[in-house]
Amino acid sequence: MKLFKRIGVLTSGGDSPGMNAAIRAVVRTGIYKGIDVYGIRHGYQGMIEGDIFQLQATDVANIIQRGGTMLKTARSKEFMTDEGRKIAYEQLCKQGIEGLILIGGDGTFRGAVEFFKQFSIPAIGLPGTIDNDLSGTDFTIGFDTAVNTAVEAIDKIRDTAEAHDRLFIVEVMGRDAGYIALNSGIACGAEDILIPEVMTDIEQVLCKIDYDEKRKKTVHILVVAEGDDFGGANEVLIRVKERFPNLDTRATILGHIQRGGSPSYADRVLASRLGYAAVNALCEGRNQSMAGMVNQEVVFTPFSQVQKENVLLCGDMLEMIQVLAT
Ligand code: ATP
Repeated sequence: MKLFKRIGVLTSGGDSPGMNAAIRAVVRTGIYKGIDVYGIRHGYQGMIEGDIFQLQATDVANIIQRGGTMLKTARSKEFMTDEGRKIAYEQLCKQGIEGLILIGGDGTFRGAVEFFKQFSIPAIGLPGTIDNDLSGTDFTIGFDTAVNTAVEAIDKIRDTAEAHDRLFIVEVMGRDAGYIALNSGIACGAEDILIPEVMTDIEQVLCKIDYDEKRKKTVHILVVAEGDDFGGANEVLIRVKERFPNLDTRATILGHIQRGGSPSYADRVLASRLGYAAVNALCEGRNQSMAGMVNQEVVFTPFSQVQKENVLLCGDMLEMIQVLAT
């Protein structure tokens, strides 16, 4: 058991709904254990700039239901340099911070690995990203909310698509992984789903539209991940319009609405459980690891082994999507 007097918590990389719930859990667990908890604003950049302040239990009241992050987040180029990390370490020493809780994605943990090559300060990570593309956890904090936001938006698009007999191409977030596209597409009954993990055969996509047209299917919703190998919604739109000039086809890019909003119950519970577990793990002497949830159990994966993970297409999922869309 390691006794900490003071620890720091930060959010880094892209924001995700549930980060606030995680901060709350970290602060309240730390205080319960007699530790002073300090917030570091704007991720690693705030660490370099010394934007560090003490958090009381009341400072994290009424944030569990809020999207975004009360600590703000940032991407820091300076932290990618030896000199930047040296300044960051000096700031931590100045504030007497002896341990860290890092909430972010794989980049945040890569940064931590570099930091700890130079300086020794215990740290535990929490997976905070809407993309769900991290190994070591079944779900990342923010993914469930982001998918639900996409589902709500696509349902609305379907209403208007049906009213006008329109074909809609909806782009959802996912630069490297298709988790949001796959899950929102299945949940909304999309006619086709394009994800980076599966090579897009645009001819096949166009044939499906043609087939649906001939049998007078009035609504066609195509969900595409922003990082699909063929391109995003606008690239697909060009090809569809070329082939079917008489079809009323529109593209919608959902964009940043998928990052915001009140976190779902699932994200709040996940963030609370992992935040609580992270502080306990730090006190038990665990270090350099991300807390994740696998089969409802908290597990720890060394930062160096946390990797971006693509969608695992279980069984005949692709066939199922086609069958259910007929
Ligand atoms: P998201 O999945 O939402 O993009 P992320 O944590 O992967 O979140 P990144 O921007 O990749 O977001 O990483 C966050 C920060 O971590 C970077 O801005 C940078 O400061 C730091 N970082 C990332 N990789 C390294 C590295 N190799 N060395 C030092 N710092 C790094």
